[in-house]
Amino acid sequence: MKQFIQDLAEKYHYQATHLLHILRGVQSRYHYIPEQAIEQIAELLNISRTHIIGVVEFYSFFHLTPRGQYELFISDSITDHMLGKQSLIAYLSEKLNVAVGQVRPDGLVSLDNTSCTGMCDQGPAGLVNGYALTRLDRPRVDRITDLINQQKPLEEWPREFFQVEDNIIKPGLLLSQPITHGSALQSAYKRGLQETLAEIDISGLRGRGGAGYNTAWKWQLCCEGPDEEAFCDIATHNRRPRFVVCNADEGEPGTFKDRVLLNSNAHQVFEGMTLCAAIIGAKQGFLYLRGEYLYLYEKLQNVLEERRQAGLLGKNILNESLDFDIEICLGAGAYICGESSALLESLEGKIGIPRNRPPSAVIRGYLGNPTVVNNVESYLAAAAISVNGGEWFASHGTEKSKGTKILSICGDCSRPGIYEYSFGTSIQTVLDDCGASNVLGIQIGGASGTFISNLEFDRTLAFEDLSTGGAFVVFNNDRNVLEIVNNYTHFFAHESCGFCTPCRVGTSLLKKQLDKIVDGHGSEGDVVALEEICKLLTKYSHCGLGKSAANPVLTTLGRYPVLYQSQLKKISFEPGFNLDDALEMARLMSNRTDALAHLDQVEEES
Ligand code: SF4
Repeated sequence: MKQFIQDLAEKYHYQATHLLHILRGVQSRYHYIPEQAIEQIAELLNISRTHIIGVVEFYSFFHLTPRGQYELFISDSITDHMLGKQSLIAYLSEKLNVAVGQVRPDGLVSLDNTSCTGMCDQGPAGLVNGYALTRLDRPRVDRITDLINQQKPLEEWPREFFQVEDNIIKPGLLLSQPITHGSALQSAYKRGLQETLAEIDISGLRGRGGAGYNTAWKWQLCCEGPDEEAFCDIATHNRRPRFVVCNADEGEPGTFKDRVLLNSNAHQVFEGMTLCAAIIGAKQGFLYLRGEYLYLYEKLQNVLEERRQAGLLGKNILNESLDFDIEICLGAGAYICGESSALLESLEGKIGIPRNRPPSAVIRGYLGNPTVVNNVESYLAAAAISVNGGEWFASHGTEKSKGTKILSICGDCSRPGIYEYSFGTSIQTVLDDCGASNVLGIQIGGASGTFISNLEFDRTLAFEDLSTGGAFVVFNNDRNVLEIVNNYTHFFAHESCGFCTPCRVGTSLLKKQLDKIVDGHGSEGDVVALEEICKLLTKYSHCGLGKSAANPVLTTLGRYPVLYQSQLKKISFEPGFNLDDALEMARLMSNRTDALAHLDQVEEES
């Protein structure tokens, strides 16, 4: 182990910022992070062992105790549930003879739930030793059981188990016209970098990750900034280095379009990042790739190498004196790292706790330096705008939402996959295209987004109406709204980073309160309490996760009050557990079997 860790540390230049890379290597080799490894890494990287332990405990894919040689995770997304995930994991557990959350006594296999793995169009999905498994069913589970019991290496497993389809169903402005390699940079240098920034401004491009900040404004601010002190080293007055970061940590349940863009359009995404670097004067970029997309890592590294060979990355790009390169950093299973400041913390080798803002990343980003953080789709669009001009893009969409939006559509529809629409397109049009009928409602924007009912399908995709980072999950009339909300609420309780009390406690309380209602133990007062918790979360949480954790409850409570009411008992209050059952031990000890030894919760007259 000693030599292995020494080599890993050397590979990553003994930099503490590369702690996640090193821990991923150790976890992959030993299926946990042994104490001995922690001691050695601490010494080699000159960081404290408590820091390393904190990082290991924070990320879902790291463990302090041994997991199985085959680490199996099954995606717990609502779409996986709709495809029979619960009975499938029970079957898997029985076949492999290992309980969910446990390691089999022989140490060969462990089985766990995990948050959405981004395969909602081809679930039920999972991961084995970090690699995506798709379209799981009982025959595949039988085969996987045999392969594990025979200790077959993953390279000998059938390739179709790892097959990930792009499912691009409706390409639009961007997807139907991919640019040729290098053309965005050539156009930008021909036109002038400042003039290209002006074109991006004309295009009206806003960040596609969800928040929707104006892209040109962000790049401009990072380039110059209103306050020189913020952009120069105070001691030396030297210009601080700039960084370009691509947020590919799409963890919002129901979102998978970045997965497809990186598989099919990686050159264009990297070109958009390089364009940004040219404009803001950055020399280093990072692609923060969610750990669940490990299967893309090698392919993306090859694309980067192709670009270096073609003179589109590295030194003196296109003979324009531009030096810029991109490094890929893999996440380790933490949804919060999709929040830009938490992502930067993670990129620095720390736990992903969102920073206080202001200052924003464009002023104090990676290692305290001005940094542009944009989404995969934003860089893809920026590269296309450099080639085709701002007007080309701005002529699509609405006044406040220019251009197109790429959606990942899944759930109850016959054609799940990737669709690109001009902003302003109605929800009904989208539903017609994806083959959805008998629709109850749609969750737009993922767990943190909005649930709309079938009375609202004339509403439109737009920042000013229904904004989404890409998730579009369809539910038909056979689905139970409360089960859907419950899944999202459990998701937030699991993914809360725990930094601030309103969210850490609030998401857990919300989960328990909703469980009580869904399980049929709720009363009128419990709905009031539910609303109070929602208010607390929304008002006092530190970051967007906590502030939006109540959205699934709030957006359905307002639309389906009768549904919530129908779950309630007509009593003033019922405890969240069965009091009579809880007294069973006391009855046994006192040898009481008579009726008076039991408690009855009496329903009130209506
Ligand atoms: Fe962490 Fe939640 Fe607080 Fe955000 S709101 S900092 S996720 S605990």
